[in-house]
Amino acid sequence: MAQLSVAVIGGGIGGLTAALHLLRAGFDVQIYEQSRQMTEAGAGLVMSPNATRLLIKLGLGDELAKAAVRPAGFHQRRWQDGRTLAFSRTAHEMETRYGSPHYVFHRGDMHQILVQAMPPERIHLAHRCTGAADRGSHVEATFANGTAIKADVLIGADGVHSIIRGLLLGAERPRFTGCVAYRGLIPIERVAHLGLDTASNNWMGPGRHFVHYPVSAGRMLNFVGLLEQDSWIEESWNEPGSLSDLAEAYAGFHAQVRGIIGAADQTFKWALLDRDPLPRWSFGRITLLGDACHPMLPFLGQGAAQAIEDGATLTACLEKHRDDVPAALELYQSLRMPRATRCQTISRNNLTRFHLPDGPEQEARDAKMATGTTDWSYEAIGWLYSHDASVLPAAA
Ligand SMILES: Cc1cc2nc3c(=O)[nH]c(=O)nc-3n(C[C@H](O)[C@H](O)[C@H](O)COP(=O)(O)OP(=O)(O)OC[C@H]3O[C@@H](n4cnc5c(N)ncnc54)[C@H](O)[C@@H]3O)c2cc1C
Repeated sequence: MAQLSVAVIGGGIGGLTAALHLLRAGFDVQIYEQSRQMTEAGAGLVMSPNATRLLIKLGLGDELAKAAVRPAGFHQRRWQDGRTLAFSRTAHEMETRYGSPHYVFHRGDMHQILVQAMPPERIHLAHRCTGAADRGSHVEATFANGTAIKADVLIGADGVHSIIRGLLLGAERPRFTGCVAYRGLIPIERVAHLGLDTASNNWMGPGRHFVHYPVSAGRMLNFVGLLEQDSWIEESWNEPGSLSDLAEAYAGFHAQVRGIIGAADQTFKWALLDRDPLPRWSFGRITLLGDACHPMLPFLGQGAAQAIEDGATLTACLEKHRDDVPAALELYQSLRMPRATRCQTISRNNLTRFHLPDGPEQEARDAKMATGTTDWSYEAIGWLYSHDASVLPAAA
């Protein structure tokens, strides 16, 4: 049987990991990326066991371990006095329970590991896809630079503003969620005086929360301030942010939070976008993956992890149905949609839960967290972290 050719539109974390899975399974894969360089914006990235399991299967375990930090735990805290609401020990317990580590990364470090693993001749930079059409026996795609390609399968891994999604389902802007993120990185020695622990800390306050954890093998501290805001008026979705606005927004928070903001040189401000779950991802020989089909709020730490799962399952489906691409893509959609939708829904619900105003509801939340029985408990999160997306269920 001839080797199937797969065109991946977009070289973000989702597109790259899908391409690596497909390549290892013997498909002829090419990535088309609009940027002139393979770089990744942003700061920190949490990689839970369901994602690290797949990256390790790709043979990237050693590189990842060198760049990662294993956080000592997840520390949920009250915004003004730092009181512990819940503490789950991640580093050892996660690995023992789910058989794969829980890491945090600098996004750039992780993206580079994926880029280095991909043969460079299979990455086509400065290729902004402008059109794609299923011709029955193959797919054709066109690019702003005037080139055109043919492939047996086309994957739209082109992010939250996906052109491919628009071509398949009609143009529509993703929704501004009413939440913005201020993100930044600080050399760790600059915050040494604050006495921070090595856990991933989440400070919950009214209408906002603040997250920080060490990245880049402990050399840098990543922070994200997530706060509610009525509208997004900047033209770009990713703007330099004002440190004084950030400091003002967290003025009443604990001294550690204020100290982190005070130590930062710069911050970038991101609009947080999402969409309602789509009715379909797969159309004949074309399908979608990652933020192109299931953007989600970052309040479950699963956006990139779910994109990584997509690529693994998609590869397994194409391996099973090499002679029937539409059947493979239908199977992929049926396996992935319920799980990604569940993550989208929980992420959205966490916005309310993290940002409760001080009062009876917040007190009830804190009391429940103290019992260790929330859906952050090891038992409750098992469905998410123990999953191996590279293995098709027997019924499939
Ligand atoms: C504040 C914040 C914190 C987050 N934290 C986490 C976390 O801790 N853990 C986690 O798992 N997730 C996290 N996420 C989510 C995660 O970043 C995304 O879900 C993930 O990056 C999606 O990957 P992707 O490859 O689908 O899309 P993207 O990373 O957006 O990549 C899309 C790629 O496609 C390219 N492209 C776009 N259009 C075209 C075109 N027409 N032609 C060719 N190329 C094109 C783009 O240049 C880009 O390289 C966070 C998100 C935010 C905003």
